[in-house]
Parts: sequence; structure tokens; C-alpha cells
Amino acid sequence: MNKLQSIKGMKDLLPVDTAVWQRIEDAVRRVLERYGYAEIRLPIVERTELFARSIGEQTDIVGKEMYTFPDLDGESITLRPEGTAGCVRAGIQHGLFHNRHQRLYYWGPMFRHERPQRGRLRQFHQLGVEAVGWAGPDIDAELIQIGTRIWREVGASGLALHINSLGDVESRLQYRQRLVEYFSKYRTQLDNDSQRRIDTNPLRILDSKDNTTQQIASDAPEILDYLDAESKSHFEELCEYLDAAGIAYTIDQRLVRGLDYYSRTVFEWISGDLGAQGTVCAGGRYDRLVEQLGGRATPAAGFALGLERLLDLLGRRPVQTDSADVYMISLGDPARKAGLVLADTLRDAGLTVISYCGTGGLKNQMKHADKSGATVAVLLGEDELKSDMITVKPLRSGQRQLTAPADRLLEIVRGCLDASATQTANSREGIYANG
Ligand code: ATP
Ligand code: MG
Repeated sequence: MNKLQSIKGMKDLLPVDTAVWQRIEDAVRRVLERYGYAEIRLPIVERTELFARSIGEQTDIVGKEMYTFPDLDGESITLRPEGTAGCVRAGIQHGLFHNRHQRLYYWGPMFRHERPQRGRLRQFHQLGVEAVGWAGPDIDAELIQIGTRIWREVGASGLALHINSLGDVESRLQYRQRLVEYFSKYRTQLDNDSQRRIDTNPLRILDSKDNTTQQIASDAPEILDYLDAESKSHFEELCEYLDAAGIAYTIDQRLVRGLDYYSRTVFEWISGDLGAQGTVCAGGRYDRLVEQLGGRATPAAGFALGLERLLDLLGRRPVQTDSADVYMISLGDPARKAGLVLADTLRDAGLTVISYCGTGGLKNQMKHADKSGATVAVLLGEDELKSDMITVKPLRSGQRQLTAPADRLLEIVRGCLDASATQTANSREGIYANG
């Protein structure tokens, strides 16, 4: 029979992977909490209309990448391709934005039917951070500070910050008009996608990967020349905030972002070490979105960080995972039952205990105990059970095995764990002293 495989572009995260993920998630969570952001958890499936209305009908995502299907009652639903739309939907639905500011974050899987390759999956994971209710450039700067601190905390290096401004709706429309005029002159020389985009989404031509198109785009009108006065001063102030915070950036007029809802500030962190998919984190301001989705007009800004790309950047550095404190060995039926209970009393005391399950003999169970990496083995055989005694065998230090009354178990195990920890610390010092 054929073995069943996972769906193309959707990856399993095995225990060796999740250890790294958890380390990153812990670090990221600590950073966000220090800035006062609170977690929001959102459904993975939403009404299709939500994405059509927010991301934009003419974008690649809505146009050709969404996992959309009819629900059993016929309603069109979609696996979320990104998180901002759902977050804003939830905020409006629960009145979170009523005369209040919100600093929110969420993470989880996103789905886009793209061509799978390095850095591009069909199920991938994002951390989303959203600040809703602030109009000024200071919150844009705070978001950028958060990103910068995340790179520092997780040890990611070589990420270049690019920033740009898309202006407000009117100035962007004006700029769009100039672009259409400009690119129309070169229509036949552009790549196919870009030809189509002249009429649908001309700004996206600026980030085409096609060489000829790129050359033509390099002489295109520049967006910052078309900014309205307010967007211009917003952008200048953002630059001042970043300068004050000592955060380096490049003003990148080709940076346009693929989603329709952005306005004014947009930014990305790009790595040169990830091949064609170098953008690890991207975001910007979306002042019209809340209103567009039926809420009261509310300014907002946020970013989304691609976790797979960040992990790729960090490389597969092995993570030290903690082994168990105790490996529980029980011999014979009655002892196995007593052992199950005994193991739980050690867990009540906060220890990590792995119990042997099955009917193996002493030698076999000891082999598993050694392989488990546990610090001590606790042995419960028929003799011990009869005399209410227990045997403790240290596995990592040179200490001798001992048999003692069962009610001293915790005390003895703790003693062994302490001795083993001291020994490890000493041997580490030894290494440093010698090296
Ligand atoms: P890209 O430039 O890769 O197409 P995008 O502009 O579509 O990205 P956003 O929608 O802004 O990206 O998503 C933010 C981040 O999510 C990206 O910078 C990237 O790190 C990650 N990301 C987006 N799409 C994918 C994908 N298909 N697979 C893995 N990560 C992705
Ligand atoms: Mg994309």
C-alpha cells in the first residue's frame, strides 16, 4: 500500500524542530510582554469576504493563492492567508477599539497556495503584532524597536531594515496614475505579470523580480516625490525617531508591499542569506482598514514575521533540551502498579519522571534508563515492595546505588540530583580552567 504523505508545501515539525521553535517563541513572547502587548487568539478559518475586502481583490493572495471552499452549508470560507484581517475583524466584533488603544499579538499557521521552495510554503507560520488606535510615527517606531529587539534576543544577525511611505489614498492614486503612464510606454518589454499589473496593481511592478522590468522600473517616478504634506512629515518624523533610537535603515522607494490595505509607513527586514525569499518580517500602517471592515475610522500599524524564514536564518543550531530527573523502573506486576503511583508523587514534588512501560526485565529497563539521559533511576522490585524500601541508582555521577525506606525517596533523589548538578558545574569549570 502507498504510504500517505503530507500535502505539498505543508511541513511536519518534529520534536527536534519544536525545541528550537519553543525557544524562539519564549524569547519573542518575553519581548512583546515588555512592550505591553497582549496575545489574541483567532480562528484559522474566516469568511472569504473578509479577505477580499481587506487584502484586495487584485492582489496575488486573493486572486490566486487562497484555500477557499464552500462550508457544508454552502457558505464560502477561507483558510486565513494572513492574520491582520482576522485580528481587525475580531477587534471590531468585540468592541476592542472603542475609544481604546490596543497592543496585540498572535501567532499561528497561515495558508497560501504558492509554489513551494526555500522560504515559501503553503502552510507557514507568522507572528503578527498590531497596534491599533495610534496615528503618529512614534508607534511605527515602537514596532520597529520591537522587531530590532527580537533579532537581538534570538541572535539573528544581518537583517537590513528597509522603510518607505506609500502616502495617503489620494497621493497614492496620483502616483499610481504617473506609474501607469510611465509603464505603459514600455508595456511590451515588461514581463507578463507586470503587463497585467499595469491595469490592476501597477505599484507591484516595482518589486518584480524580472531583470528587464527591474531596469525599466529603476527609472520610474519615485513615490516619495508624490507624498501629501502630512504623509511626508509623518515619514520624516519616523526617520527622526529611528535616528534617535540608533536604529539603522535604508529608504527604499521600491518597497511597496503586496497587500492593498497599507498606507503611509511600510517596512521590511531583509536578509541576504536566505536566497530569493529574503524578507523575514514585513509591516506597515493600515489606517483605513478598520473602517473598511465596518468599524469606526481608527488608525493602526503592525507587522508580520515569518517564523520559518527566521528559523532558516538562525540555522539548525542544536538546542540543549533538559533530560528527565528520574527514570522509574518497576519489576513484576504489583510493583508496576505501585511504581505508577510513586512516579506521580515525585512529579507532585516538581520532578520530571519517565516511567518504563512494558514488561521488560531489569537489564532491559536499565538500558532504557541510561539512554533516556535521566539523572537517577528509581528501582522498585518485589523485594523492595515487600519491605517498603526503594533503590536509587545515580546514572550520571559516580555515586553508589543505595536502598532506603520508601518514605525517604524524595530526599534521596534530591540529594543525588544536587550532587550530580555540582559535579557537572565543577567539570565545566575544569574545562574552562584547562582550556
Ligand atoms: P513574499 O515577499 O515572500 O511574497 P509577502 O509580501 O507575501 O512575502 P507578507 O504577506 O507581508 O509577505 O507576510 C509577512 C512575512 O511572512 C514575510 O515576510 C515572510 O517572512 C512570511 N511569508 C509570507 N509568505 C510566506 C510563505 N509562502 N512561506 C513562508 N513564509 C512566508
Ligand atoms: Mg507573497
